[in-house]
Amino acid sequence: MRGAVLHAPGDIRVEDRPDPRIEKPSDAIIRLAATCVCGSDLWPYRGIEEVSGPAPMGHEYVGIVEEVGSDVRNVKPGQFVVGSFFASDNTCEICQAGYQSRCVHAELVGAIGTQAEYARIPLADGTLVATPELPSDDLVPSLLAASDVLGTGWFGAVAADVQPGKTVAVVGDGAVGLLGVLAAKQLGAERIVVFSRHESRQQLAREFGATDIVTTRGDEGVAEIKELTNGLGAHSVIEAVGTQEAMMQAIRATRPGGHVGYVGVSHDVSLPGDELFFSEVHLHGGPAPVRRFLPDLIQLICDRTIDPGRVFDLTLPLDQAAEGYRAMDERRAIKTLLTV
Ligand SMILES: [Zn+2]
Repeated sequence: MRGAVLHAPGDIRVEDRPDPRIEKPSDAIIRLAATCVCGSDLWPYRGIEEVSGPAPMGHEYVGIVEEVGSDVRNVKPGQFVVGSFFASDNTCEICQAGYQSRCVHAELVGAIGTQAEYARIPLADGTLVATPELPSDDLVPSLLAASDVLGTGWFGAVAADVQPGKTVAVVGDGAVGLLGVLAAKQLGAERIVVFSRHESRQQLAREFGATDIVTTRGDEGVAEIKELTNGLGAHSVIEAVGTQEAMMQAIRATRPGGHVGYVGVSHDVSLPGDELFFSEVHLHGGPAPVRRFLPDLIQLICDRTIDPGRVFDLTLPLDQAAEGYRAMDERRAIKTLLTV
């Protein structure tokens, strides 16, 4: 099969990879309907995360089940399925509590690499959720978004305790931040403020439900949020970047008693204890347990209540994955969908 492989920073090649096979009775093999490039793929692409040898890339996926192992009961060949970037059994105590991304048997799908024609999905019964029927082609981008960026933005909003009638701020205008806006809107937030300096992203944020745009960041951005909230700060802040600056901006933009939901993959963030102590905010986040939300998100997409697939503003064939990475790296694209 064909698949994207990162050889060195900036060097993505689509090449022949071995066809995946059932390795354990709990595995399934899927034929990808579409795949995509994640903001987190840019960390190794930019050389910020080390790459040791050629690495298969991709952890977002939707597709048709081709084959299942002998223990798989919940999905069958021919079904259209959505899964998350952590395979999980969905039965252990941690999964049952809704934290499937930290399942005691969790396996990282990124190590398998789903920017490819086929993929082996471990723990298929716990990981994969089938759609009620085969979706029409125009729903595929939204279902693919549910696999990671929508589920992650949604968890950011839930972790930030977004409630009806409240004010939410979103730090980060990438796909996850924008879908955090969509999630906040669905969860009933009254005012949704997004930090963004990019015209096209501001426009999509507004279409997803943002009521205010703040173009400054850092302490200036915090001062603007305070101005919008009678000096108090937002009730809920979604942090969707993962840098020191973004995390501190999120904490400082939150009112005492408020909640920060942090879902940007943390890179060298360290929090000052004294400031944290006196901020009196709740902090919750981490790798999103997307599996917790998948059944509801699939329903909202199939009912056409939400259209998260709009974050894909570039579509290319898998063979042009290298250009898909470049476009995101240069911020010419919010998110690249790869057709298979
Ligand atoms: Zn589990």
